[in-house]
Amino acid sequence: MVKGISEFVVADTTEALEKFKRPLLVIEGPLMDGMNEVGDLFGAGKMFLPQVVKSARVMKQAVGYLTPFMEAEAQGVAKTKGKILLATVKGDVHDIGKNIVGVVLACNSYEIVDMGVMVPCDKILDKAIEINADIVGLSGLITPSLDEMVYVASQMQKRGMKLPLLIGGATTSKLHTAIKIEHEYEEPVIHVLDASRAVGVVSNLLSEDKKLRADFLQSTRDEYERVRIQRQNRNASRVLLNIEDARKNKLQLDWKTTIHLFQKKQGIFRFPNIPLEILKDYLDWTPFFQSWELAGKYPAILEDKIVGVEAKKLFVDANILLDKIIKEKSLQATAVIGLFPANNIGDDIEVRSNENKKIQLHHLRQQIKKAEGQANFCLADYIAPKESNKQDYIGAFAVSAGFGVDELVKYYESKHDDYNAILVKALADRLAEACAEYMHKKVRTEYWAYSTNESLSNEELITEKYQGIRPAPGYPACPEHTEKQILWNILDVEENTGISLTDSCAMFPTAAVSGWYFSHPDSKYFGISEIEKDQALDYAERKNWTAEEMKRWLGAVMG
Ligand code: SAH
Repeated sequence: MVKGISEFVVADTTEALEKFKRPLLVIEGPLMDGMNEVGDLFGAGKMFLPQVVKSARVMKQAVGYLTPFMEAEAQGVAKTKGKILLATVKGDVHDIGKNIVGVVLACNSYEIVDMGVMVPCDKILDKAIEINADIVGLSGLITPSLDEMVYVASQMQKRGMKLPLLIGGATTSKLHTAIKIEHEYEEPVIHVLDASRAVGVVSNLLSEDKKLRADFLQSTRDEYERVRIQRQNRNASRVLLNIEDARKNKLQLDWKTTIHLFQKKQGIFRFPNIPLEILKDYLDWTPFFQSWELAGKYPAILEDKIVGVEAKKLFVDANILLDKIIKEKSLQATAVIGLFPANNIGDDIEVRSNENKKIQLHHLRQQIKKAEGQANFCLADYIAPKESNKQDYIGAFAVSAGFGVDELVKYYESKHDDYNAILVKALADRLAEACAEYMHKKVRTEYWAYSTNESLSNEELITEKYQGIRPAPGYPACPEHTEKQILWNILDVEENTGISLTDSCAMFPTAAVSGWYFSHPDSKYFGISEIEKDQALDYAERKNWTAEEMKRWLGAVMG
């Protein structure tokens, strides 16, 4: 088990059962001992996540084998150190991190009840009460989920619940937890940075040593207070321009001599079934290792002194699975792109859609005071303004490689194989990004065709050596998610690909990317960072929003 070898699990478990006689004694004896060792080694930094997940697979498969015997004996279930309820909040569909946390906690003898993704607040809280959970853990990846977590905390307070709340996922942070969530709920609210921290936090929270628990809570509270004070000080010293001044300092591009203004093809193009073997050549592996909490750049990571051995094994396993997926065509990749005439009007972009309709895209502008000679960026500045009398263009895209993921994941989960279930999701995410890269190249060289002479290696593609960008709504240059709804309209994304948007504007299937194409040679990615209320109000007016909607969708960038 400690080595994660599952080949002989049935034979070994049978042997153990003969020796210990009762299945429960096998679970609570050698199996738990093995998992405890795994937990300790991981805690001590002597084992990495992929190994833990493989060891957990041995445990699960052994327990799966023993379960029918236990049911026959009606022995009940093995003792655990506590019950933890996990859920990805309403509107969000991401769950790789949550699943990994669940596996790691289960390795440490906690019972995990995982409600899956897009779980509404009431369902989570009803379940927590029903199963008498000891801790609730919320997960989310996109910024709208942050608000949903604040809401769940407030409802836990309203219901007078008494159990700790854990917060985790890519956009969550100690800062957000300290400022926005902690004061909503009287019981402990703790941000968990990654899977490797989860065990420490949970064991402190559920410790029978009262003093240990109290000390942990006090030091967390002190830490959050420190973070809040730091933020206040920063806010006091930070300078944001008002939006008029930020606009005066916009990027000035020369539209008189610009020669890139043309677009070979226009309209909407569908790519219903992109061969996965093509996409394999466009994969960017570095984020794949990150999703397993292995730090380092591919391919150097394979030779890394610390994680190299495990990275290599993971890479081999991933490629075996990927080749199987390609051979059996068990995932489908699909894309839709559109190329349209466009001009900017202020911070908006007016697009002439397929049906010759004028559609407005909305963008935010940086308001941070810049150093001399540096502009306050806004994506709209990369498109020729109407008053330049030059016809400019824009593109849009939505791609997914997530069709088939659910079926594959179900298959592996039915075999108690979380390792391959998580691998499938991580690979599908990679294939979706690869698909975005592939389509972008097609657009630059064939469709929009402003870079017909381009010839770049995959490494050069990954480091963005090409002309133009493909910013994605929800990311730093255009952090406001509802612009995806406009993109969905312009490209008829749902009809053309099957990718849908949740009410928080998360894409489903999860392994999906969507965004805009800009071709200007000077266009580059940036971050909006923070905006002032004046711009938020202006933006809300352009989008025809209520104050409530403004708070919901711009909260994350309004400091
Ligand atoms: N090769 C990487 C790409 C990661 S970035 C991978 O495979 O994961 C993923 C996408 O996010 C980019 O393709 C782009 O669409 C978008 N993006 C990155 N930085 C951005 C920014 N600052 N603003 C808007 N979109 C951004």
